Amino acid sequence: MTAGTAPQVAADGETVDLAIVGAGPAGMAAAIRAAELGLAVVVFDDQPAPGGQIYRNVAHPPPLPRHVLGPDYHAGAALVARFLASGAEYRPSSVVWHVAEGSLSHTGPDGGGTLAARRILIATGAMERPFPVPGWTLPGVMTAGAAQIMLKASATVVDDAVFAGSGPLLYLVVAQYLRAGIRIRALLDTTPRGARRRALARLGSAWSGRTTLAKGLGLLAEIRRAGVTVHRHVADLAAVGTDRLDAVTWRSGSVRHRLDCATLFLHQGIVPNVNTAMAVGCSHRWDEGQLCWRPTLDAAGRSSVPGVMVAGDGGGIAGAVAAALSGEIAAIAAASDLGRIDGATRDRLLGPLESRRRRDMAVRPFLETLYRPADADRIPSRDETLVCRCEEVDRGTLADIVRRGCPGPNQIKAFSRCGMGPCQGRLCGHTVTELFADLTGRSPDEVGHYRIRMPIKPVTLGDIAGP
Ligand SMILES: Cc1cc2nc3c(=O)[nH]c(=O)nc-3n(C[C@H](O)[C@H](O)[C@H](O)COP(=O)(O)OP(=O)(O)OC[C@H]3O[C@@H](n4cnc5c(N)ncnc54)[C@H](O)[C@@H]3O)c2cc1C
Repeated sequence: MTAGTAPQVAADGETVDLAIVGAGPAGMAAAIRAAELGLAVVVFDDQPAPGGQIYRNVAHPPPLPRHVLGPDYHAGAALVARFLASGAEYRPSSVVWHVAEGSLSHTGPDGGGTLAARRILIATGAMERPFPVPGWTLPGVMTAGAAQIMLKASATVVDDAVFAGSGPLLYLVVAQYLRAGIRIRALLDTTPRGARRRALARLGSAWSGRTTLAKGLGLLAEIRRAGVTVHRHVADLAAVGTDRLDAVTWRSGSVRHRLDCATLFLHQGIVPNVNTAMAVGCSHRWDEGQLCWRPTLDAAGRSSVPGVMVAGDGGGIAGAVAAALSGEIAAIAAASDLGRIDGATRDRLLGPLESRRRRDMAVRPFLETLYRPADADRIPSRDETLVCRCEEVDRGTLADIVRRGCPGPNQIKAFSRCGMGPCQGRLCGHTVTELFADLTGRSPDEVGHYRIRMPIKPVTLGDIAGP
């Protein structure tokens, strides 16, 4: 099966109008709007409950006081309720492992199959940007996103942890921990020197996003009031230990510091989860503002592959509100392309949504400048630092292959197995592109990304062979 095959017979014998991959804000909002417009919709999501990252588990939250996860989290319950009542067919715990033009293959509790769809919407969201510092794979080192997943999924927390990195999600998780009464050893802030000054130059365009800015300032004030020890301008971060994490070390100016700790949560922003869109053959470009790959889309989310659309953070990081708006916009465009609504109806529906999305996104250039991770935190310079966690390939091995004249990431993969593990290059892809670009003086666009092939997620041979 390759990208571009004709629609196959659906497991249940029908061709649906719209198949959506992902039940986060983008996928849910798209499903609600598409169902309202009369489309037959199926939504697949590999999580057991709808909500995506931000609204994980929101319909049945863990036993925590409401203020711990905060109003932005609980607001998702209304969207989830509307989604479940929308009439769209929802398939939880279902992994989509292959998408082609006109069909997708999935596996889940009811078995697997291939579903034919007139339109496919990829709403697979974002993932945390890798933070490849020495020791980042030691037991005891996790991501701040993981800390939050434990909190949202089961009210599980780790006492006395160190949080390191920068970006709104890091401060949010620290604040959520504090509201839950959990002690935090220290916050090591890697926001580079001069970032605030550079970001302030972009503040003018961010006025319509002042609520977002106020929330961010509120989080920082909350952390300050709680008396957490905050070290700023942290550089040269390293996790130290043999069998597990013993300490974290860093440099501040010319002074080297060490802090003993058992748990370190790292975070330096999020990037689009592009594997599905790449596997189906959608063209992508490197976004120098967001430092990530993103699919080339028109204003409604249509990709370069006919019938395949992308909405939400998988199309570029924009946050949950813009994700939901982009889902609705894509659903309306799909209905129009399928001839279910006329042009006048389409334009009347799209106008207000597009304006709201523009207003909501005005704050992004400010945030991207403020929280742009330092080159040294994205592109490892020490040879022993692991780049590919799955296959344990270090920076030195990759640099050696590049020096021998390796032409690009696909050949790196063949020579070293970097990117061939269970994550299918999701965790090392951005680092490999940027390291390669840095070593050869080429741009990330010139270097390119791994060619992503199915299965997008690990599945059994039985899933691939079919019933
Ligand atoms: C770990 C993490 C935590 C975050 N927490 C917050 C937060 O608390 N507050 C906030 O404002 N923003 C948060 N964000 C950012 C937030 O994810 C986005 O702004 C917003 O949720 C994007 O919505 P979305 O619908 O595009 O994607 P998501 O919400 O990410 O939803 C995508 C869904 O697709 C599913 N999926 C992906 N691939 C497949 C596949 N192949 N088959 C089936 N299902 C698939 C995912 O499991 C997920 O449920 C977080 C991001 C991350 C990475």
